[in-house]
Amino acid sequence: MVESLYGLEEEKKSIWVFAEQTDGVLEGVSLELLAKGRQLADEVGWQLGGLLLGHQVEGLVEEIFAHNADEVWLADHPLLEVYTVDAYAPVTQEAISRGKPSIFLAGATPNGRDLAGRLGVRLRTGLTADCTDLRINPENGVLVSEVTGFGGGVLALIEAPKHRPQMATVRPGVFPPAEAGPSKPGRVVKIDAELSEEMLRTQVVERVIGEGVDLTRAPVLVIGGRGVEGHFDMLSELAQSLEGDIGATRPPVDDGYIDRERQIGQTGVICRPKVAIVCGVSGAFQFVVGIQEADTVIAINTDPEAPIFEFADYCIVGDVFQVLPALKQALQAADKVPHV
Ligand SMILES: Cc1cc2nc3c(=O)[nH]c(=O)nc-3n(C[C@H](O)[C@H](O)[C@H](O)COP(=O)(O)OP(=O)(O)OC[C@H]3O[C@@H](n4cnc5c(N)ncnc54)[C@H](O)[C@@H]3O)c2cc1C
Repeated sequence: MVESLYGLEEEKKSIWVFAEQTDGVLEGVSLELLAKGRQLADEVGWQLGGLLLGHQVEGLVEEIFAHNADEVWLADHPLLEVYTVDAYAPVTQEAISRGKPSIFLAGATPNGRDLAGRLGVRLRTGLTADCTDLRINPENGVLVSEVTGFGGGVLALIEAPKHRPQMATVRPGVFPPAEAGPSKPGRVVKIDAELSEEMLRTQVVERVIGEGVDLTRAPVLVIGGRGVEGHFDMLSELAQSLEGDIGATRPPVDDGYIDRERQIGQTGVICRPKVAIVCGVSGAFQFVVGIQEADTVIAINTDPEAPIFEFADYCIVGDVFQVLPALKQALQAADKVPHV
């Protein structure tokens, strides 16, 4: 077996989180990983580090400390302003080779996935992608990464006991973020990024930001499945009146009734709303993983045997085309919805 660049004897008992930033703003998933990393580090008495790369991003160091990191490793260079794997991979490798963390976590964003994959090869270590949970075995400090496989039929626990760092990526929304506390100063380690234009094989010519939706932050979600037969306008009205947003299962997305960015579940978005109103959805595992952290789930389905009812807090056996208008009427009577 190929050995990693450093092993168990040399590792430092620390967890590092890739503090990914875009235009000087930290990604939400990095804050979620800092919260999870803090919890794990406290359980085993380790240190938590944030790895921050960019240009003129020193202002973010305080924010990382406010999210409970003990130390921040910082590389500042004009060629790190915009993410490219050619620039980020060698600098991250240099930082990891110096700091030798036991664990390195990154968000499963396009850049996080790209970077983690490249690092896995460069550091000759393993990478578990798209984890749904993480824990550390307190006996031996081994990271146990949980992933689902075969369409949710298998829950696998993956360990890399002999290779360091132990790496994992996690999608946005899987872990809750922690509130920022008062920033308590920690150790800042500066990394000299030795980069030149010739090292970069790609050039970012233009970056276009689409008007995307972020369902991970919606407090209320009205979700439609195949049973709503594409009538998302009806769901949208209810969602707006409750200051929420709409989501969908995969079939209406595949049928072109709604944008793919609104798909919830294993291959969609993982959400944690306060309330999810789930309409005409059977409750397949691949969907349920997307809302299993919701505070309250209300399900409407004509089939009393629908699996979604085993998961929901409130179960309404009925036709969504009758229940939703009745629900809207009841909310109007309670003055929760504007009369139109
Ligand atoms: C690898 C893999 C990944 C997947 N990823 C995802 C994913 O990310 N997200 C996802 O959603 N799915 C995903 N799927 C698909 C998933 O397995 C299910 O097929 C899908 O979730 C079913 O969607 P549904 O509940 O809308 O449709 P159905 O399973 O067809 O259920 C429709 C429900 O609507 C009810 N209904 C019908 N008419 C009415 C009415 N008038 N009023 C009330 N109820 C009514 C029916 O009783 C039924 O229970 C994935 C599958 C695979 C294999």
